Amino acid sequence: MLHVVQIPVLQDNYAYLLVDAKSAQAVSIDTPDPTAILQYCQEHALNLTAIWNTHHHWDHAGGNEELVKKTGCKVFCGQGDVQRIPGDPVGLQQGDQLEFAGASFSVLAVPGHTSGHIAYHGNGLLFCGDTIFACGCGRLFEGTPEQMFVSLQKLCALPKDTKIYCAHEYTLSNIAFALRVEPNNNDLLAFYEQAKALRANKESTVPTSLGDELKYNPFLRATSVSEFAQLRKQKDEF
Ligand code: ZN
Ligand code: FE
Repeated sequence: MLHVVQIPVLQDNYAYLLVDAKSAQAVSIDTPDPTAILQYCQEHALNLTAIWNTHHHWDHAGGNEELVKKTGCKVFCGQGDVQRIPGDPVGLQQGDQLEFAGASFSVLAVPGHTSGHIAYHGNGLLFCGDTIFACGCGRLFEGTPEQMFVSLQKLCALPKDTKIYCAHEYTLSNIAFALRVEPNNNDLLAFYEQAKALRANKESTVPTSLGDELKYNPFLRATSVSEFAQLRKQKDEF
């Protein structure tokens, strides 16, 4: 049986471990804080067998080397990031499958935030790095609005009950922007109340679900590239 461990690290990142309690193995989705990841594995007697990177940014792949050195785990990342992600990674492409704990995860190419960005989907879970955030989406550092729009649409086609494990806790500031776009969206207003209460208790607003995001995430609700591009530009200046 597979479960997900979420560890808040750095300023606003989430480290995620996929854990198979039966075999005592774990996979780290990105490596924002190698010390926190290693400590969790040690305290729970888990063997870290792999790192599945979403993209090359330091707050996602910066802990690779230390984790590889200390555990001998294998690194996987998008084919386009093989040269710029540490730990001698294996390159993955759209449609590739990874097995863990009896579950199968498929690789989705989601360029936009960066050119080599990938996501992992399986077992009703989506690890999308800096592509979708709760009520938001990643900035366009290396991609065009069109690329990001296509990537988001690809993720929107997944089952509605997919749990979205994004890499940052940006929810409240994302909601502040979304309220400018749709001030009268009741689902958005309800999520705002829920998110405020969670954050007041220092609790996570993540994971979110695709079905919920489709009700209030302005970037997923954009129906054209130009509408998306306009929203992304407004958010950058917000
Ligand atoms: Zn990033
Ligand atoms: Fe990030």
